[in-house]
Amino acid sequence: MHGQKRVMVSGGTGFLGSFLCEKLLKEGNDVLCVDNYYTGSRNNIIHLLDDPHFEAIRHDVTVPLYVEVDEIYNLACPASPVHYQFDPVQTVKTNVHGAINMLGLAKRTKAKILQASTSEVYGDPAVHPQHEDYRGSVNPIGPRACYDEGKRCAETLFFDYHRQYGVSIHVARIFNTYGPRMHPNDGRVVSNFIVQALRHEPITVFGNGTQTRSFCYVDDLIDGLVRLMGAPAALTGPINLGNPGEFQVRELAEMVIELTGSQSAIVFKPLPIDDPTQRKPDITRAKQELGWEPKITLREGLEKTIAYFEWILSAGTKSMQG
Ligand code: NAD
Ligand code: UDP
Ligand code: UDP
Repeated sequence: MHGQKRVMVSGGTGFLGSFLCEKLLKEGNDVLCVDNYYTGSRNNIIHLLDDPHFEAIRHDVTVPLYVEVDEIYNLACPASPVHYQFDPVQTVKTNVHGAINMLGLAKRTKAKILQASTSEVYGDPAVHPQHEDYRGSVNPIGPRACYDEGKRCAETLFFDYHRQYGVSIHVARIFNTYGPRMHPNDGRVVSNFIVQALRHEPITVFGNGTQTRSFCYVDDLIDGLVRLMGAPAALTGPINLGNPGEFQVRELAEMVIELTGSQSAIVFKPLPIDDPTQRKPDITRAKQELGWEPKITLREGLEKTIAYFEWILSAGTKSMQG
């Protein structure tokens, strides 16, 4: 083990996890990536595999894991509605049993542990923008509940392990984050729209597209997570991390068409059940406590993400051709 800390990232081959592993390695840590490849990919970490300070293991966090670590980032959980609703029972198990195992590991090793929670704990919010004291409006029996309630229960477990056993916790409530390395079939809105636009296929806006989201570029988000892990123990959170810029889904579609120069038309599809009508983080606490706020605008972030998907889609075409 060289110099610094032994840091574990569960969900480390996923979209956010792979960027996090990369940043932690750059900062001189030994990084252990733990993932069952449910939505993650070896391609996301392939460039790290030759680094002697990086290790990846295939493991499902619903099963106990005995390793020695100093810090744990718990990101394991499919994040796209399409994927977390594919096997809802497994999603609940990942959130709840996964959290119990990661917290048990943190308790035994006295590691600090950070939970990747979500703006979804606010459900379809009656308070706008959402601040951390708002307790949310979640349908406990709907198709999104496996994720929303799973994440809410994980927060409960984090605070109970903290109060009952003195485990050092940090809970981040992450708002919609996008960027390179999202899987072309991820199913979330930014990757869907970009892939559709680049293929000149219809852009699928769900509902009438007036529902809003706030989109954070991945680099900004990862910076927030690392700052939160480094914050004093008293800063347990929960703390919102997201970009307060708020856009209608329809506006996002128009921006993607403009930036890609696409011939795509917008088509309207049914709004999924319990789809939140509005979402925008109040990041006062993150600004004050972490000195953090996003730097990359939606337009800049989309340009970077579009460049990535242009590359991925052309590489896919080339490999299919030969
Ligand atoms: P992702 O689907 O790309 O990554 C999730 C990773 O977790 C994948 O590599 C997957 O294989 C792994 N995983 C799933 N179940 C597992 C299990 N049982 N055991 C081990 N590994 C498992 O999603 P992402 O966008 O990178 O999200 C990472 C985390 O951040 C998730 O916990 C998600 O809920 C949270 N989050 C993300 C966003 C966002 O907009 N990206 C917003 C809020 C919260
Ligand atoms: N656990 C784990 N790795 C460890 C320590 C614990 O995976 O290094 C698991 C353990 O199997 C248990 C869970 O974490 O199911 C919760 O641990 P805790 O110590 O809280 O519970 P207990 O073992 O007392 O049931
Ligand atoms: N959405 C859409 N078209 C798509 C995918 C998603 O209009 O092809 C909408 C979706 O209904 C939601 C918003 O975009 O209102 C964000 O969806 P996403 O799945 O990215 O995240 P979440 O709903 O979890 O915020």
